[in-house]
Amino acid sequence: MAIVHFPLKLTARRMIAPTVAHLSFVRDDGQPLDYIPGQFIQVHFAYADGAAARRSYSLATIHDHALGPGEAVEIAVSYVSGGAATALFEGMPIGGTIDASGPYGRFCLMPADANRRYLLIGTGTGITPYRAMLPLLERLMRERRVEVVLLQGARTPDELLYGAEFRAFADAHAGFRYIPCLSRELPAADSPLAHPDVRHGYVQNALAECAPDAAGDIAYLCGNPNMVDACFEALKEAGLPIPQVRREKYVSNK
Ligand SMILES: Cc1cc2nc3c(=O)[nH]c(=O)nc-3n(C[C@H](O)[C@H](O)[C@H](O)COP(=O)(O)OP(=O)(O)OC[C@H]3O[C@@H](n4cnc5c(N)ncnc54)[C@H](O)[C@@H]3O)c2cc1C
Repeated sequence: MAIVHFPLKLTARRMIAPTVAHLSFVRDDGQPLDYIPGQFIQVHFAYADGAAARRSYSLATIHDHALGPGEAVEIAVSYVSGGAATALFEGMPIGGTIDASGPYGRFCLMPADANRRYLLIGTGTGITPYRAMLPLLERLMRERRVEVVLLQGARTPDELLYGAEFRAFADAHAGFRYIPCLSRELPAADSPLAHPDVRHGYVQNALAECAPDAAGDIAYLCGNPNMVDACFEALKEAGLPIPQVRREKYVSNK
């Protein structure tokens, strides 16, 4: 898919966790943005001294690539204190525009995969590629009976991005298991997120109970580089060959 440059116009913004914003854009040149779920865009701006800056964001839009290009361009941005892009997004008015380019990346479900199960692992905003993949996963579960386990790491229930959506998707699809891993605080018993599959601890601890299997598993790791490295080591120890572990690390472009 060709990489293109385009202006994005902000159409909506809502907080989905105390420091994470879900931002919806449309291309301001009237074109749709075609991309494969799992890919990311870059935004281009300038520091106060005029130097060029860019930052990467995974596309979060629930997107069925097979139906044609998407309309909305949605990203989830974790606000970090002192962050240049953070300040830009926080201050951007609805209707404001920013230069962007994309789509980039190969963190996608591969058409030739013949695995029995996908292990999808993400922390923080690293969960967004899997949200974009939901329609494709639905189709793969139906067409070739692939199973999917989504392991999502967060500290507290209110930081579990799109948690209610993933819970509802798992409830509606027998082949999809959703395991939220919470390191600091579990959901209250009457919370919609309360479920027997909620775990206390880190995603790498919950991996063992999934019994990673070299013969049938392909794993995806996305988000915080330390989590990606820890899970990569755990999967290698469990015997998964390196080509069966696909990684996207959210490193800073600074
Ligand atoms: C392929 C790829 C995809 C990405 N996708 C996303 C995404 O979907 N959503 C998203 O929010 N980010 C994503 N990132 C990270 C993103 O590109 C920026 O690095 C991040 O938004 C911080 O940018 P900033 O300009 O606000 O902060 P900067 O100006 O880069 O950093 C300001 C300060 O904050 C610190 N800092 C930077 N990032 C973090 C962090 N995550 N936690 C704590 N402190 C930090 C820096 O060390 C620095 O001290 C992705 C990165 C890559 C490489």
